Amino acid sequence: MNIALQYPIFGPEIQCPHCRQTIVALTLTDTYLCPRHGAFEADPKTEDLVHLQSGRHWRQWENVWYRQHTHPDGIRFEIHEALDQLYTQGYRATRVIIAERYKTLINTYLERSAPWRGKPDDPTHPRLYGLPVEFSPNAKNDPRWDVINFDLDKEPGTPSRHPHSWRLFE
Ligand SMILES: [Zn+2]
Repeated sequence: MNIALQYPIFGPEIQCPHCRQTIVALTLTDTYLCPRHGAFEADPKTEDLVHLQSGRHWRQWENVWYRQHTHPDGIRFEIHEALDQLYTQGYRATRVIIAERYKTLINTYLERSAPWRGKPDDPTHPRLYGLPVEFSPNAKNDPRWDVINFDLDKEPGTPSRHPHSWRLFE
């Protein structure tokens, strides 16, 4: 018997997506067990890791787990956190690129009421937290976009508004 087949698809051990502790697989199952967070099950078909207790899904790209969102507030909150982090590192974001697979989920939550400053002739250009939004290329052309949630274009500088003043759930 091939020894690799005794382990779930991510191998004998992974980092827990919640606490980043190394956690081990239970052989001959699809389960990893974190002493703090309980059982995670690997789905060999979708290559998702599912936290059984919360039902949260994760996918992995270059050894980093990305939470898979099913509610628009989830991804919006994650983008807000990333903007906050950029700000503390001395950058400001100039654009957000959201994975195409979230287009239907998040589309109605984007701001379209006012024209983006740089595009006065395009009043429908969507924005989020005041930033222009674009959607990623199709994951068939760039498989990274089947896993990661968004990317931010950034430049050094001070944002015109502190991220804490951005409204999370307008
Ligand atoms: Zn954990």
